Amino acid sequence: MHKIAVLPGDGIGPEVTDAALEVLKKADELYGLGLEFEQFEFGGAAIDAYGEPYPEPTRKGVAAADAVLLGAIGGPKWDDVPREIRAETGLLALRKDQGLFANLRPARVLEGLEELSPLKPEIARGVDVLIVRELTGGIYFGQPRGMSEAEAWNTLRYSRPEVERVARVAFEAAAKRRKKLTSVEKANVLEVGEFWRKTVLEVAAEYPQVELEHQYVDAMAMHLITHPADFDVVVTSNIFGDILSDLASVLPGSLGLLPSASLGDGTPLFEPVHGSAPDIAGKGLANPTAAILSAAMLATYALNRPEVGAAIERATAAALKTTRTRDLGGNAGTAEFTNAVLEALSG
Ligand code: ATP
Repeated sequence: MHKIAVLPGDGIGPEVTDAALEVLKKADELYGLGLEFEQFEFGGAAIDAYGEPYPEPTRKGVAAADAVLLGAIGGPKWDDVPREIRAETGLLALRKDQGLFANLRPARVLEGLEELSPLKPEIARGVDVLIVRELTGGIYFGQPRGMSEAEAWNTLRYSRPEVERVARVAFEAAAKRRKKLTSVEKANVLEVGEFWRKTVLEVAAEYPQVELEHQYVDAMAMHLITHPADFDVVVTSNIFGDILSDLASVLPGSLGLLPSASLGDGTPLFEPVHGSAPDIAGKGLANPTAAILSAAMLATYALNRPEVGAAIERATAAALKTTRTRDLGGNAGTAEFTNAVLEALSG
């Protein structure tokens, strides 16, 4: 059995998580995944129940699980709580606890949805890129750091194991996809870039089936706009990944379409990129696509059943052809769209 810890969270979190759970349960029925679900409080809901966003029962549930499916957290109700117990602090603690050092953000323009992209349809067509961002190292965490009246400083530093492990996650992901990996750095200016490139090249020897290329980050920013469909998996450092994943996230044209995964030493985490959308919470209007695609990533990366992940993705793409929620210009509610996915999945 695979234990899934379910953390619905706040706002539209519970609505989109319910939708993703229905899809996972149907996939379990069809493909025999052997799933067991247990729900825990997290974020604002946990602040209300326990006075903290990541209480002990949730921490234990996450540690004992094979994967975490998270909805969304936070909202105006908890905006004024002290920083140590903010909903977002709970998410940082979960990532740290579980050693989640790789963040995976796919951006895909689905067939028939090219018109949602801000790019010309002929450029947007076929975009299916996965950004793998190093999440726990690099300049956001490097010491020394500080600021005085006269100057401010941060440190960009990566160790060999830090680069190797995120590179392996990226090569593994590429091996499950179109077998192409682009490593992004600034090797022409930064020693860390040169070291990153050399280390990724060494790891490449373990994955002869994956084609590797290197790009400088400035050129990559241009390529992601001018010919985004050329890329499969992209691996990069924390700060470059922060920027490039946000750049790539606008390609599909709606926040409601973007899933994510965080992988590392402990229990992997799967969650939509969007927030708790308090403006539409509780109305049955939320687009559950990002949550459902996060469940597809769970099947691919936590259960190692990429064929099931792909089947969920295909069913979602099929549903989007006929049934769309308001953020995509349609008038379907969460339940109607979810039913369309379930129907497509059942074939
Ligand atoms: P956070 O800071 O938590 O990311 P935010 O307010 O910046 O929150 P979201 O909560 O993601 O961002 O919402 C941004 C806008 O997008 C809102 O108007 C919201 O209604 C809309 N939105 C976000 N997710 C969805 C979704 N799944 N379906 C429909 N609309 C959504």
